[in-house]
Amino acid sequence: MALSGLDIYKLLPKTNCRECGFVTCLAFAMQLAKKAVSIDKCPYLSLEAKKALEASSLPPIRLVSIGEADNKLDIGNETVLFRHEEKFHHPCAIGFIIEDNLSDQEIKQRLEKINKLKFERIGQELNVNILAIRQNNDKKRFQEVVKLVLSNTQLSLVLMSDDIEALRGALEISASRKPLIYHATIENMVLVSKLAQDFKVPLVATSVDLETLSNLTRELNSQKVEELVLDTGKKPVAEKVWDLTQIRRLALKKSDRSLGYPALVIVDKKDFYEEAIEAATYIVKYAGIVLLKGFEAYEALSLLTLRQNIYTDPQKPLQMEPKLYPVGSVSDKSPVLVTTNFSLTHYTVLGEVEASKIPSYILSVDTEGMSVLTAWAAEKFTAEKITDSLNKFEVKNTVTHNRLIIPGYVAVMSGDLEDKSGWQVIVGPKEAAGIPSFLKNL
Ligand code: SF4
Repeated sequence: MALSGLDIYKLLPKTNCRECGFVTCLAFAMQLAKKAVSIDKCPYLSLEAKKALEASSLPPIRLVSIGEADNKLDIGNETVLFRHEEKFHHPCAIGFIIEDNLSDQEIKQRLEKINKLKFERIGQELNVNILAIRQNNDKKRFQEVVKLVLSNTQLSLVLMSDDIEALRGALEISASRKPLIYHATIENMVLVSKLAQDFKVPLVATSVDLETLSNLTRELNSQKVEELVLDTGKKPVAEKVWDLTQIRRLALKKSDRSLGYPALVIVDKKDFYEEAIEAATYIVKYAGIVLLKGFEAYEALSLLTLRQNIYTDPQKPLQMEPKLYPVGSVSDKSPVLVTTNFSLTHYTVLGEVEASKIPSYILSVDTEGMSVLTAWAAEKFTAEKITDSLNKFEVKNTVTHNRLIIPGYVAVMSGDLEDKSGWQVIVGPKEAAGIPSFLKNL
């Protein structure tokens, strides 16, 4: 847990020697608490104080990286229990389990489908992140399937097996992709931790109860295995949510470093709807990785959409780049509709303009991501701002008319906007749903 300025001060020499560049040790401590200076600035720190200060600056939930370079997947490093307190930092990874007892043909078909699970929503690309290969057969088949998966997808990998030699064989061919290995238990921890050390890969630690899990991670740490992911095994949903909540709470509120790791959950249901509902519960609270059996687009899309909503910064609305967007085969006679650069507003307007089948321009005004009425009330969507956007994006050089359609909710600014911009203002519908009939009757 982060230390306060006074806590830090107690660890300092208190000689006020000024060598750190501050007039007193207290001033240095206050800056250190704000993370504005480095502890190296004080040359007189005892080893003990240094250790305590370094430990306090570690994140309460460790950042774990799976994969390398462009395909690196970061999970963990969360700092709050509730999204509104700050934000959630690293989106929960969503992925699928491939069983090695499927035929090569079946595996290839699944991978092809999984690779296509890419969606665009409000200007952001939504992707699945991870693929787990689970051993059911001998180690030779496991290795074959790992090879097959490696050559058919760039997704981050989890290698799932209880057979140490099978894991070693699979790691020999996949270590460069830095897979997550599943899993260390109290029984096999010595052997599995050796694998994690030899191949420098992250490791899942599994136990059904939190106390044993906490002891297990301590043991693994003592063997120099630090990049861990936690799993409390298969349980009913309520118990699982309890575990995930306790892990997050103990790590954040009680500074329990032995549970300060992201958690992995396996959802293994025959019914894809049931599976999606259960997975959604864990995405909200507090999984770092959710692995599913189902790989249908409808299941993935619903979960990716939920994840997008949970992991956006609540203090920063999703925004579009402010500019003039052509929709359809526009010409110099196409209508120009003005709206704000709040993503949800933009895409709602875009959808309705597309539905009208009338090629048009959408002028997205920079309102810092606020919606129409909020931006108008905050004086971010004003006649001046719209006029600036018309000039900045040279709308006059793009169309040969001078008619501008504004949202019905801000009809009140039409006179002022006409005066300031020199454009003829037409008041459009209040709701985006009215755009198709409005454009057709224009
Ligand atoms: S260098 Fe260390 S001992 Fe000297 S004033 Fe700064 S914090 Fe205090």
